Amino acid sequence: MPEREILIRGAAAVVTMDGARREIAGGDVLLRGGVVAAVGEGLGSAGEVVEAAGCVVTPGLVNTHHHLYQTLTRAVPGGQDALLFGWLKTLYPIWGRFGPEEMFVSAQVGLAELALSGCTLTSDHLYLYPNGSRLDDTIAAAAEVGLRFHPTRGAMSIGESDGGLPPDALVEREATILEDCIRVVDAFHDSREGAMVRVGLAPCSPFSVSRDLMREAAVLARDKGVMLHTHLAENDEDIAYSLAQFGCRPGQYAEELGWVGEDVWHAHCVKLDGSEIELFGQSGTGVAHCPCSNCRLGSGIAPVRAMRDRGVKVGLGVDGSASNDAGNLVGEARMAMLLQRVARGADAMGVREALEIATLGGARVLGRSDCGSLEVGKRGDVAVWDVSGVESAGSWDPVGALLLCGPARVKHLFVEGKQVVREGEMVTIDLPRVVERQMRLAARLMG
Ligand SMILES: [Zn+2]
Repeated sequence: MPEREILIRGAAAVVTMDGARREIAGGDVLLRGGVVAAVGEGLGSAGEVVEAAGCVVTPGLVNTHHHLYQTLTRAVPGGQDALLFGWLKTLYPIWGRFGPEEMFVSAQVGLAELALSGCTLTSDHLYLYPNGSRLDDTIAAAAEVGLRFHPTRGAMSIGESDGGLPPDALVEREATILEDCIRVVDAFHDSREGAMVRVGLAPCSPFSVSRDLMREAAVLARDKGVMLHTHLAENDEDIAYSLAQFGCRPGQYAEELGWVGEDVWHAHCVKLDGSEIELFGQSGTGVAHCPCSNCRLGSGIAPVRAMRDRGVKVGLGVDGSASNDAGNLVGEARMAMLLQRVARGADAMGVREALEIATLGGARVLGRSDCGSLEVGKRGDVAVWDVSGVESAGSWDPVGALLLCGPARVKHLFVEGKQVVREGEMVTIDLPRVVERQMRLAARLMG
């Protein structure tokens, strides 16, 4: 049997993100099996043809930071206007009532939202496991939705009675955490090219686990060949906590514990100073930039321009839906571009660079040299955006229109050469049913 082919044909522009950053007007992309078989003009195929006139075709967007379970706690009144620590204290008791069904359904909602906004590869950071919840619940959700998935086994071990932020009921013993890290890596991590699931280790943050757990997670991750992820330098409170508790800035703390390197990425990094940016650039440490979350929690504007100029790998993250509260990844790319302009002027970041961060940048942060660009042999992860609709009508540059105008929703999405979104609708799951189930679970949590 010949491998299945899909030809995406006649796009207004194909944004390749290849080494020369080629954009091909009137371009085609041919997918065969799970990979990109050809990129160019006038390609032919005996397989399925997807007409892309009036569309921009890009590599699938990559989301490097999320807490999918939080889609069940969006716009919670007590947390709407709080700073980070106050917001967490409002939400912890609600999250404490979650179980496996909440984890599965909330993940499906979050993943569908990402898919509809052009995302083909996402990481997730699940750091609490109440009432029998497991990382497995989210992995099952992603398998149905059809996105490439990098779940991370998060953890919290310092409860209120030990001077930590979370309530004691939501923290785990450190021995239990490490055992479960080994279990999920052995059960699910796939290091091969084209992998649909890769597991990472991710103690929640320096203020919710011990120094020992940070260090042991790093040793375990290197032993298993998996990546490390956590929150770092998110806002001023975070820096003050680090100085008071550890006697150093977050970057130094990370370095001391083995938390820098090509296999590490940190979320936020809003408050990194010059020497920390230098350290991340030199060591190959990645950053998940979460612009809407940073706005929503009033944390500040991450120094992305300075990071990029110093060679720091930067990807985008929608962050947990409780602090955004949307999970629209292309919207995040637009916000990343706008925020750098607020901080540094209108020439601080252009559309093409923001799109690069959203695709290739994210793939590099997650260690995926097989994703993030449309080149022969790369995975067949493709987003097709209709720029002929009302929001971008009248635009002179289809690629510029994608972030300067819209759309906010993808027309077609392919992951590993398989269609996940068709004509703006999910084809892998019955989304209205999933949303209805989510609303029922939310009502139960509110009641
Ligand atoms: Zn986060």
